[in-house]
Amino acid sequence: MIRTLSGATLKAAQPIKDIITTRRLHSTYDVAVVGGGIVGLATVRELILRHPSLSFVLLEKEKELAVHQSGHNSGVIHSGIYYTPGSLKARLCVRGATLAYEYCDKKGLPYKKCGKLIVALEQEEIPRLRALYERGMKNNVRDLSIVDAKGIREREPFCRGIMALDSPYTGIVDWRMVALRYGQDFEEAGGTVVTESEVNDISMVTESPAGSTEGMKYPIAIRDKKGNEVRCRYVLTCGGLYSDRLSQISGCSREPRIVPFRGDYLVLKPEKHYLVKGNIYPVPDPRFPFLGVHFTPRMDGSVWLGPNAVLAFKREGYKVYDFNVRDFADALLFRGLQRLVMKNLSYGIGEMYRGIFIGAQVKILQKYIPELSLSDVLRGPAGVRAQALDRDGNLVDDFVFDGGVGDVGSRVLHVRNAPSPAATSSLAIAEMVADEVESRFAL
Ligand SMILES: Cc1cc2nc3c(=O)[nH]c(=O)nc-3n(C[C@H](O)[C@H](O)[C@H](O)COP(=O)(O)OP(=O)(O)OC[C@H]3O[C@@H](n4cnc5c(N)ncnc54)[C@H](O)[C@@H]3O)c2cc1C
Repeated sequence: MIRTLSGATLKAAQPIKDIITTRRLHSTYDVAVVGGGIVGLATVRELILRHPSLSFVLLEKEKELAVHQSGHNSGVIHSGIYYTPGSLKARLCVRGATLAYEYCDKKGLPYKKCGKLIVALEQEEIPRLRALYERGMKNNVRDLSIVDAKGIREREPFCRGIMALDSPYTGIVDWRMVALRYGQDFEEAGGTVVTESEVNDISMVTESPAGSTEGMKYPIAIRDKKGNEVRCRYVLTCGGLYSDRLSQISGCSREPRIVPFRGDYLVLKPEKHYLVKGNIYPVPDPRFPFLGVHFTPRMDGSVWLGPNAVLAFKREGYKVYDFNVRDFADALLFRGLQRLVMKNLSYGIGEMYRGIFIGAQVKILQKYIPELSLSDVLRGPAGVRAQALDRDGNLVDDFVFDGGVGDVGSRVLHVRNAPSPAATSSLAIAEMVADEVESRFAL
């Protein structure tokens, strides 16, 4: 059960039972974290474990935790191959994967180290595949090797390709289950989780709370849409698809902006699961590293194919016809998106086409597994990526953490861009953000 800001109790539907215990809600806290996805939960957990004598609250707008990106993803434990050496993504993914495996072992959470092949189909892809290998080695990814066509067939008997990068350290896990376990650790350490609290104002106050004897110890007021308020000393936001709006309401910069891209998956019919053993990925196009359909086995035994990437008309819209006027207008009027569309129109149309006509998607997948046919697949679930864009239409690739200016800005830290592989990296991001919180704020 979870206590909300208004005091009502809610039943949380979660795979791990009794994850959140009932706890009395105070109105003042040392630190408030907004956003109960895997990044917010990992970070608030890390903070309370480091500072058990401080008080922490996590505010989440939904009834349940981790239901957006953290509950709608491919479920892969990435090993850190793709990312620019020295970037936050590279460092935090490699460390995050190790920490994730250790954490799952310690808590008894199931995962499978089923590996991953990045498969080259054409000669022209081989230089890029070799460059990826070099990159992975620079990033200290474990156990990488290059295999030939025979090596591919030994690992994936139904997969065709001329050469592949083999990453046996890559795995799969249910990231939502992991996120909820972080939440349980947080609760057990004395933290408070409040759901159904959509924060829409973060500001400095000039008066102490009614009846308070502590003066201005808690100068930040966080208000939600229902008019409830908590006071705190410091705020961290981890808002995923709403990270730009959370920055804006605290007086910080709105940029980089978030543009939502929906990815629709196909699923393999159960009688065809034998076709796929581990993760099978294409050699990525360097211009769009997150595009390119892949084959991903899931912890429940199913196999997902895809996803594509199309502009979503609603930030948390998982269906094709989901539409929100503000989200749509925001995206369309943003110069960064207009420029991105102009530069990549044919790509965008191709992605939309493949979303509508799944036969076109299957054609691409058949290049890797020729035995696959249209009748072997069904339409599956979807996820929405929070894609950060700058004004010039460039995708913001790396993780971005940012504070602000002025009275509120000096007490706020925003996780502004935490795209894939942020689930894999979550425990490493949490360490880094906790270090940053400690250096910026006088905890
Ligand atoms: C299709 C897809 C596939 C992916 N595959 C993988 C993968 O295989 N491996 C991997 O490592 N990563 C993957 N990722 C990336 C990963 O899922 C995300 O990077 C990660 O979940 C981000 O976590 P988050 O906590 O930042 O965001 P979210 O999980 O979106 O959480 C943000 C939370 O903030 C809350 N919130 C927002 N605004 C407010 C407000 N005003 N008040 C209160 N609460 C608010 C939201 O309700 C939400 O719960 C994938 C992502 C997608 C979309």
